[in-house]
Amino acid sequence: MVAAAAVLLRPDASAPSSAPPSAAPAELIVGDGRTVTLLSLGGDDTDALLDRVAAELGEATARVEDFWGTDWNREITVVATDSPTQFAAAAPGAPAGMAAVAVADDVDLDRRVATGQRIVLGPDAHRMSDAALRIVLAHELFHYAARTDTAADAPRWLTEGVADYVARPAPSATTPSPVPSALPADADFDRPEPELSRAYDRAWMFARFLADRHGPAALRELYRRAAGPDRVPAEDALREITGAEPAALLQQWRQWSAGPR
Ligand SMILES: [Zn+2]
Repeated sequence: MVAAAAVLLRPDASAPSSAPPSAAPAELIVGDGRTVTLLSLGGDDTDALLDRVAAELGEATARVEDFWGTDWNREITVVATDSPTQFAAAAPGAPAGMAAVAVADDVDLDRRVATGQRIVLGPDAHRMSDAALRIVLAHELFHYAARTDTAADAPRWLTEGVADYVARPAPSATTPSPVPSALPADADFDRPEPELSRAYDRAWMFARFLADRHGPAALRELYRRAAGPDRVPAEDALREITGAEPAALLQQWRQWSAGPR
């Protein structure tokens, strides 16, 4: 992590900040004895944001450990950025404008090792409410925890749906849900709003349906079989785990979405 931190803290001459990077990154312990490192790249808002992150990370970690277990990276690094340039440098390849993203410098799925893992907060992340920040942290932390159990070409309805299942509270029973037509395609997660939010909502809804009907353990098993390094087609994993044909399952999902719960 020393090397990664050195890279992350490299002064960015093209984006002058009004405050220097924090001299001593704060540390805390969350969940099953995990060490948290909070890094500010400078700016007016990042220190206050990281204080809020420190307050929320315990709950976010508990949610991830409850669902996924505790066999994942013992070190959690969160980097706060103050400009699009800083964000692009700390999270190479991530789309601009994101609230947060979980990245790694290198992932070796055979050895289950990811190096340089970090959650990078976007320059506008400080505008989020506490509730929104809590969801974003838990969502990204699930990606972080599952990184070495996630194939690069895993279906995104499954990776994003499970991350949202872990992070987003279930809606109240009085909140009407639109009845979905089909699972979102991978490309739907690259579309602009409002299609993007609809893709996440459908993925989240399907994950909640599976957990509601078959239990959270079945959802976790689906992730391991259909999103993991040795993944099988999702249709096969769904059939094995639920005992239902995928077409019938989607029909049940639509009925579940339309009905009271
Ligand atoms: Zn995600």
